[in-house]
Amino acid sequence: MNLWEKTSIVRASHMQEDFTTPMMKQYSGIKKNYQDCLLFYRMGDFYELFLEDAHIGARVLNITLTGKANGKGGRIPMAGVPYHAVDPYLAKLVKAGYKVAICEQLSPPNKKGLVERDVVRIVTPGTMMDEKALEKKENNYIVSLLFNINNVAFAISDISTGYFSTTEIITDNSAQVVADEFARIQPKECILSEKDYNNPEILTLLKRENNLNIFPFVDWEEYAGNAKRILKEHFAVGTLAGFALEDKKMAQQSAAVLLGYLQQTQKTPVQHIKKISSYGTKNYLQLDRSTMLNLELFSTIREHETSGTLLSVVDQTVTAMGGRLLRSWMKKPLLEKTEIEKRHESVAELLRKQRMRNDLREYLKEVSDIERLLSRCSVGLGNARDLINLKHSLNIVLEIKKVLETYDSELINELQKRIKISEKKSDMHLETLDNIIAYLEKRIVTEPPISIREGGMINQGIDSELDNLGQIVSGSRDWIVELEQKERKRTGINSLKVRFNQIFGFYIEVSKSNLNSVPTSYTRKQTLVNAERFITAELKVQEEIILSAEEKMHDIEYRLFQETLKNLLDHVSIIQEAAMSIAAIDCLVNFAQIAEKRNYVKPEMRDSEEISIHEGRHPVVETLLENKQFVPNDVSFAPDNQQLLLITGPNMAGKSVFIRQNALIILMAQMGSFVPAKQAQLSIVDQIFVRSGASDVITSGLSTFMVEMVETAHILNHATDKSFIVMDEIGRGTSTYDGISIAWAVAEYLVSCKNTSPKTLFATHYHELQVLEDQYPQQIHNYHMAVSNADGGPVFLHTILPGGASHSFGVAVAKLAGIPESVIIRANEILEELEERSLEKETIGVYPQPQQIELIDHLIHKELEQLDLSQMTPLEALNKLAEFKEKLKFLAQENKKYLEVD
Ligand code: ADP
Repeated sequence: MNLWEKTSIVRASHMQEDFTTPMMKQYSGIKKNYQDCLLFYRMGDFYELFLEDAHIGARVLNITLTGKANGKGGRIPMAGVPYHAVDPYLAKLVKAGYKVAICEQLSPPNKKGLVERDVVRIVTPGTMMDEKALEKKENNYIVSLLFNINNVAFAISDISTGYFSTTEIITDNSAQVVADEFARIQPKECILSEKDYNNPEILTLLKRENNLNIFPFVDWEEYAGNAKRILKEHFAVGTLAGFALEDKKMAQQSAAVLLGYLQQTQKTPVQHIKKISSYGTKNYLQLDRSTMLNLELFSTIREHETSGTLLSVVDQTVTAMGGRLLRSWMKKPLLEKTEIEKRHESVAELLRKQRMRNDLREYLKEVSDIERLLSRCSVGLGNARDLINLKHSLNIVLEIKKVLETYDSELINELQKRIKISEKKSDMHLETLDNIIAYLEKRIVTEPPISIREGGMINQGIDSELDNLGQIVSGSRDWIVELEQKERKRTGINSLKVRFNQIFGFYIEVSKSNLNSVPTSYTRKQTLVNAERFITAELKVQEEIILSAEEKMHDIEYRLFQETLKNLLDHVSIIQEAAMSIAAIDCLVNFAQIAEKRNYVKPEMRDSEEISIHEGRHPVVETLLENKQFVPNDVSFAPDNQQLLLITGPNMAGKSVFIRQNALIILMAQMGSFVPAKQAQLSIVDQIFVRSGASDVITSGLSTFMVEMVETAHILNHATDKSFIVMDEIGRGTSTYDGISIAWAVAEYLVSCKNTSPKTLFATHYHELQVLEDQYPQQIHNYHMAVSNADGGPVFLHTILPGGASHSFGVAVAKLAGIPESVIIRANEILEELEERSLEKETIGVYPQPQQIELIDHLIHKELEQLDLSQMTPLEALNKLAEFKEKLKFLAQENKKYLEVD
């Protein structure tokens, strides 16, 4: 029988009357207000959980479940964790999706009556502050979501950095907008009104998100109802127009609600949240959920790992703030040509000035996470060491500014100017960094203790009362030091010691062998094995002076520390602005660093719609090839010449790599990075869509094919002239004929839709689609990945060449993959049989008509005539020959099929 079967367990449903001890009555009174949280109830050196909370704590934290007496009410389940090691336990509970209310002792324990207690903070997944539990280079976002059929609004905050932003989007597909934005933001927590929380449609939509904790917020309506007033008060503004929010009611509401929630959980005014940025989805290059997954920006598709992602290759930022900003740049690439070029220019300058770049990197390494440090201070979790750390970092920031002042590029100049310094040094006006440094220098000692309650933090000369008390204490201490000498002399006991401990205060210690010489004025206090401890009346007088002075000093120091924090937080935006600058500099230095290391070039951004990438490479794959060289490839698009490249070629030939590398190059350029190519001339792209028909991603209960079609529909409905589309094996998820028909129709639509002509890379293994080139000679061009068919099987050359491919090499690839020999032999037999039998009758609907066959014939002749043999390499000539041969073979087959069917 276990403990819980033996004892009478009091469940949480019990009312306050069920608790017979005053302490449990207090517990229950507090818990009542935090029903949705686990209550960490401070008792001395432990945080205790009771009742249901104790069961959950014991299970999730793997700690022992014990019991506590409840007078006549039986025993109550209890589980506890030590207060000094609470952070990892909190992190674990929060990761498991619980909210934890921290209930502290607010009055010193005394013998009479109960210690005062109350909740000082609520820790939730989206409001974590513990540095160790947070990813350094990732934001920890919380979102408040307001959802209508035609409108979505949300506010986003990372309380650990002070980030706060809101948006309101009018849409015909709210669910899609939420899915895309949440994929980009990746919030850890979402709060909803109780009404929305009880709406199964909304809940189902949100439950698809990984690692998202969804909570209702009971006070939603109250904050939403007073949104404008709450925001104006918090941000101390007369109008919300400066935040572009004046007319956006839903955005205002979601922002006010989130602010309220943060204030309630932190139990502070969250003073470090100084501004709201509002954004629209049209302000940056759109990457929807599937595109981010398919491009493997932050996580690989198969293993969900970070290595092998674009971020892992392009992130060598040295500060946590830079790391977080780089992620955000990757999620929100720019659309404004001048803004993009400004980033490119500064990267170019940083690249040129290598020595100074190295200096900058060295300085950056010494800058701590200023954003998170300030946030901790703002919610009452900071100490004097944080301020010393801040002072050190700000000193480095000034050094960085000096280096940046020698730079010419516009963006670096702007960033450098955002680090504010004053003409005249003063510790009175904290509007500049140097003054803030001087202020901290003046007030806080160089090596303060961790605790903010035990003094030792504030310099002399700040507060006269503190200085006086300090003198009194040191006077008494001198007296005590002298006492030791005096008493040794008086008693003749040379080993006599005057010492201090927490229990007895000051005492005189005499070893047993010298007890005979102890004067009668000594009062015995404690007996040890080898010694006895005494006190004297005059020692106690001095002790009283010291202890009471020290207590006062601790209080004064605590007050002065809080005052210092407040003054600092009143000017927090100056420091936040400098921190943002440093983050951006880190990103730009990083781009230069990566460009140098990986041989990237500066892209040229064009106003026209043309794109031309010469010798482009896949930024990730090129780093993963071990014994092979990456084969670079060219691509170009022009509205009146080449809008859709239809790429065929066997599996493993390099199609997926090629089509994705071009999307990545465009994305990197618009982030501000240099790109993996020999030369790149790019036009601004508004959206990148990457879809894979062979995707492993099953995002919902829908079948893979259904997902593929929903996503394809999304592209066809949303692509514009400026969009860039990558379709990889679309239609693969269904039967061959359906697949061909869909792929065919989609390709046709993309080039023939009146108002839009998005640039498209269309990889397919349906060779039948190649005839589209003849139907749309201006827009569609066939390409294939070169393969040489050696004796030992196909050799993939990974080079893209004009013209279509004919051979699938499927069985040969299966052989390479290690499929047993007998299966390969049998597959070859079946293949031959099938090829002979051909499936032409069933596929008549999608075969080209006679005039198309003639056209192909005509084109081959034309192409032959135009060939300039003197300009071709032997490999190109060979490939061209192979291509012609295949085209002729295809033509002959089509003629045959057509005649037979006819
Ligand atoms: P496909 O999509 O045609 O089936 P992939 O694009 O997936 O083929 O490429 C298969 C493999 O070939 C890749 O994993 C990579 O190792 C290699 N590869 C692809 N492109 C190149 C290239 N340009 N240079 C060198 N190796 C490449």
